[in-house]
Amino acid sequence: SEFVKEEFSRGTLRSKTVEDILTPLKDCFMLPSSAALDFSTMSEIMQSGYTRVPIYEEERSNIVEILYVKDLALVDPDDCTPMTTITKFYNHPLHFVFNDTKLDAMLEEFKKGNSHMAIVQKVNNEGEGDPFYEVLGLVTLEDVIEEIIKSE
Ligand code: ATP
Ligand code: ATP
Repeated sequence: SEFVKEEFSRGTLRSKTVEDILTPLKDCFMLPSSAALDFSTMSEIMQSGYTRVPIYEEERSNIVEILYVKDLALVDPDDCTPMTTITKFYNHPLHFVFNDTKLDAMLEEFKKGNSHMAIVQKVNNEGEGDPFYEVLGLVTLEDVIEEIIKSE
Protein backbone atom coordinates (compact mmCIF):
# COMPACT_ATOMS: atom_id res chain seq x y z
CA SER A 1 0.00 0.00 0.00
CA GLU A 2 0.97 3.64 -0.29
CA PHE A 3 1.22 3.93 3.47
CA VAL A 4 3.75 1.11 3.70
CA LYS A 5 5.79 2.45 0.78
CA GLU A 6 5.96 5.86 2.41
CA GLU A 7 7.17 4.34 5.66
CA PHE A 8 10.01 2.57 3.92
CA SER A 9 11.02 5.48 1.76
CA ARG A 10 11.44 7.48 4.94
CA GLY A 11 14.09 4.95 5.89
CA THR A 12 12.92 4.32 9.43
CA LEU A 13 12.60 0.61 8.76
CA ARG A 14 15.24 0.17 6.13
CA SER A 15 17.86 0.12 8.85
CA LYS A 16 16.17 -2.41 11.12
CA THR A 17 16.77 -6.13 10.75
CA VAL A 18 14.73 -9.23 11.53
CA GLU A 19 17.05 -9.85 14.47
CA ASP A 20 15.71 -6.66 16.08
CA ILE A 21 12.10 -7.87 16.04
CA LEU A 22 12.14 -11.67 16.15
CA THR A 23 10.52 -13.87 18.77
CA PRO A 24 13.50 -15.59 20.45
CA LEU A 25 13.78 -19.34 20.14
CA LYS A 26 13.32 -19.85 23.89
CA ASP A 27 9.88 -18.16 23.66
CA CYS A 28 8.71 -20.07 20.59
CA PHE A 29 5.90 -22.54 20.95
CA MET A 30 7.18 -25.60 19.14
CA LEU A 31 6.75 -29.36 19.30
CA PRO A 32 9.09 -32.28 18.68
CA SER A 33 8.60 -34.37 15.54
CA SER A 34 8.36 -37.38 17.86
CA ALA A 35 5.09 -36.08 19.34
CA ALA A 36 1.82 -37.94 18.85
CA LEU A 37 -1.31 -35.97 18.04
CA ASP A 38 -3.24 -37.26 21.01
CA PHE A 39 -5.79 -35.34 23.04
CA SER A 40 -3.20 -33.70 25.29
CA THR A 41 -0.94 -32.50 22.44
CA MET A 42 -3.87 -31.22 20.40
CA SER A 43 -5.23 -29.33 23.42
CA GLU A 44 -1.82 -27.83 24.03
CA ILE A 45 -1.69 -26.59 20.41
CA MET A 46 -5.18 -25.09 20.62
CA GLN A 47 -4.41 -23.42 23.93
CA SER A 48 -1.17 -21.91 22.61
CA GLY A 49 -3.32 -19.75 20.35
CA TYR A 50 -0.71 -19.83 17.56
CA THR A 51 -1.57 -20.62 13.96
CA ARG A 52 1.85 -21.97 12.99
CA VAL A 53 3.89 -24.36 15.08
CA PRO A 54 7.51 -25.09 14.19
CA ILE A 55 8.39 -28.78 14.56
CA TYR A 56 11.89 -29.73 15.66
CA GLU A 57 13.94 -32.91 15.65
CA GLU A 58 15.97 -33.80 18.75
CA GLU A 59 16.85 -30.18 19.65
CA ARG A 60 14.80 -26.99 19.53
CA SER A 61 17.49 -25.41 17.38
CA ASN A 62 16.83 -28.04 14.70
CA ILE A 63 13.53 -26.95 13.14
CA VAL A 64 12.57 -29.33 10.36
CA GLU A 65 8.90 -28.72 9.62
CA ILE A 66 5.94 -26.49 10.29
CA LEU A 67 2.47 -27.48 11.42
CA TYR A 68 -0.53 -25.25 10.70
CA VAL A 69 -3.39 -25.48 13.16
CA LYS A 70 -5.76 -25.95 10.22
CA ASP A 71 -3.90 -29.21 9.38
CA LEU A 72 -5.57 -30.66 12.46
CA ALA A 73 -9.09 -30.31 11.09
CA LEU A 74 -9.33 -33.98 10.06
CA VAL A 75 -7.18 -35.42 12.83
CA ASP A 76 -8.95 -37.58 15.40
CA PRO A 77 -7.17 -37.41 18.77
CA ASP A 78 -8.20 -41.01 19.48
CA ASP A 79 -5.97 -42.15 16.60
CA CYS A 80 -2.83 -40.69 18.24
CA THR A 81 -1.53 -39.85 14.76
CA PRO A 82 2.24 -39.35 14.65
CA MET A 83 3.16 -35.69 14.09
CA THR A 84 5.27 -36.61 11.08
CA THR A 85 2.31 -38.25 9.31
CA ILE A 86 0.59 -34.87 9.23
CA THR A 87 3.63 -32.67 8.53
CA LYS A 88 4.81 -34.97 5.71
CA PHE A 89 1.31 -34.95 4.21
CA TYR A 90 0.90 -31.17 4.12
CA ASN A 91 4.63 -30.52 3.70
CA HIS A 92 4.40 -26.73 4.12
CA PRO A 93 7.54 -24.97 2.98
CA LEU A 94 9.88 -23.79 5.70
CA HIS A 95 11.54 -20.43 5.09
CA PHE A 96 14.88 -19.43 6.55
CA VAL A 97 16.32 -15.92 6.56
CA PHE A 98 19.56 -14.50 7.87
CA ASN A 99 19.61 -12.33 10.98
CA ASP A 100 20.78 -9.26 9.06
CA THR A 101 17.81 -9.27 6.63
CA LYS A 102 16.33 -5.77 6.55
CA LEU A 103 12.62 -5.35 7.23
CA ASP A 104 11.82 -3.98 3.79
CA ALA A 105 13.41 -7.07 2.19
CA MET A 106 11.56 -9.31 4.66
CA LEU A 107 8.24 -7.68 3.78
CA GLU A 108 8.93 -8.27 0.08
CA GLU A 109 9.69 -11.94 0.85
CA PHE A 110 6.43 -12.33 2.75
CA LYS A 111 4.53 -10.69 -0.09
CA LYS A 112 6.10 -12.98 -2.69
CA GLY A 113 5.86 -16.25 -0.79
CA ASN A 114 2.81 -18.03 0.48
CA SER A 115 4.15 -18.25 4.01
CA HIS A 116 3.96 -15.53 6.64
CA MET A 117 6.59 -17.00 8.95
CA ALA A 118 10.36 -17.31 8.61
CA ILE A 119 13.00 -18.93 10.80
CA VAL A 120 15.86 -16.55 11.55
CA GLN A 121 19.38 -17.95 11.55
CA LYS A 122 22.86 -16.52 11.74
CA VAL A 123 26.30 -17.79 10.91
CA ASN A 124 28.00 -18.44 14.22
CA ASN A 125 31.76 -18.27 13.88
CA GLU A 126 32.52 -17.21 17.43
CA GLY A 127 33.94 -20.46 18.80
CA GLU A 128 37.02 -22.48 17.96
CA GLY A 129 35.25 -24.94 15.69
CA ASP A 130 33.79 -24.60 12.21
CA PRO A 131 31.15 -21.92 11.66
CA PHE A 132 27.59 -23.22 11.91
CA TYR A 133 24.06 -21.93 11.37
CA GLU A 134 22.49 -20.92 14.65
CA VAL A 135 18.71 -20.50 14.86
CA LEU A 136 17.79 -17.32 16.75
CA GLY A 137 14.01 -17.41 16.58
CA LEU A 138 11.09 -16.72 14.28
CA VAL A 139 9.62 -13.71 12.58
CA THR A 140 6.17 -13.29 11.08
CA LEU A 141 4.46 -10.74 8.86
CA GLU A 142 2.70 -9.53 12.00
CA ASP A 143 6.06 -8.59 13.57
CA VAL A 144 7.00 -6.49 10.54
CA ILE A 145 3.62 -4.77 10.44
CA GLU A 146 3.83 -4.04 14.15
CA GLU A 147 7.14 -2.31 13.51
CA ILE A 148 5.53 -0.16 10.83
CA ILE A 149 2.78 0.88 13.20
CA LYS A 150 5.22 1.57 16.05
CA SER A 151 7.32 3.84 13.87
CA GLU A 152 4.29 6.02 13.14
P1 ATP B 1 -2.31 -15.42 12.72
O1 ATP B 1 -2.40 -14.02 13.22
O2 ATP B 1 -1.95 -15.53 11.27
O3 ATP B 1 -3.45 -16.29 13.14
P2 ATP B 1 -0.59 -16.05 14.96
O4 ATP B 1 -1.49 -15.25 15.82
O5 ATP B 1 -0.33 -17.44 15.37
O6 ATP B 1 -1.01 -16.05 13.44
P3 ATP B 1 1.19 -13.96 14.17
O7 ATP B 1 0.00 -13.07 14.15
O8 ATP B 1 1.87 -14.26 12.88
O9 ATP B 1 0.82 -15.36 14.88
O10 ATP B 1 2.29 -13.43 15.17
C1 ATP B 1 1.94 -12.84 16.43
C2 ATP B 1 3.16 -12.87 17.32
O11 ATP B 1 3.37 -14.20 17.77
C3 ATP B 1 4.46 -12.46 16.62
O12 ATP B 1 5.26 -11.74 17.53
C4 ATP B 1 5.12 -13.78 16.26
O13 ATP B 1 6.54 -13.69 16.22
C5 ATP B 1 4.66 -14.65 17.41
N1 ATP B 1 4.51 -16.08 17.07
C6 ATP B 1 3.93 -16.64 16.00
N2 ATP B 1 3.96 -17.97 16.06
C7 ATP B 1 4.59 -18.29 17.23
C8 ATP B 1 4.93 -19.52 17.89
N3 ATP B 1 4.65 -20.71 17.36
N4 ATP B 1 5.57 -19.42 19.10
C9 ATP B 1 5.86 -18.22 19.64
N5 ATP B 1 5.58 -17.05 19.06
C10 ATP B 1 4.94 -17.07 17.87
P1 ATP C 1 -3.55 -18.30 6.83
O1 ATP C 1 -2.57 -17.71 5.86
O2 ATP C 1 -3.48 -17.63 8.19
O3 ATP C 1 -3.48 -19.78 6.91
P2 ATP C 1 -5.71 -18.17 4.90
O4 ATP C 1 -4.74 -18.70 3.90
O5 ATP C 1 -6.97 -18.93 5.12
O6 ATP C 1 -5.02 -17.94 6.32
P3 ATP C 1 -5.28 -15.40 4.52
O7 ATP C 1 -3.81 -15.68 4.39
O8 ATP C 1 -5.77 -14.56 5.63
O9 ATP C 1 -6.14 -16.73 4.50
O10 ATP C 1 -5.78 -14.79 3.17
C1 ATP C 1 -5.33 -15.22 1.91
C2 ATP C 1 -6.30 -14.73 0.84
O11 ATP C 1 -7.47 -15.56 0.85
C3 ATP C 1 -6.82 -13.30 1.09
O12 ATP C 1 -6.93 -12.66 -0.14
C4 ATP C 1 -8.17 -13.51 1.75
O13 ATP C 1 -9.03 -12.44 1.49
C5 ATP C 1 -8.64 -14.78 1.07
N1 ATP C 1 -9.54 -15.59 1.90
C6 ATP C 1 -9.32 -16.01 3.17
N2 ATP C 1 -10.35 -16.73 3.62
C7 ATP C 1 -11.26 -16.79 2.61
C8 ATP C 1 -12.53 -17.38 2.44
N3 ATP C 1 -13.14 -18.09 3.39
N4 ATP C 1 -13.15 -17.21 1.25
C9 ATP C 1 -12.58 -16.50 0.27
N5 ATP C 1 -11.38 -15.91 0.37
C10 ATP C 1 -10.74 -16.04 1.50
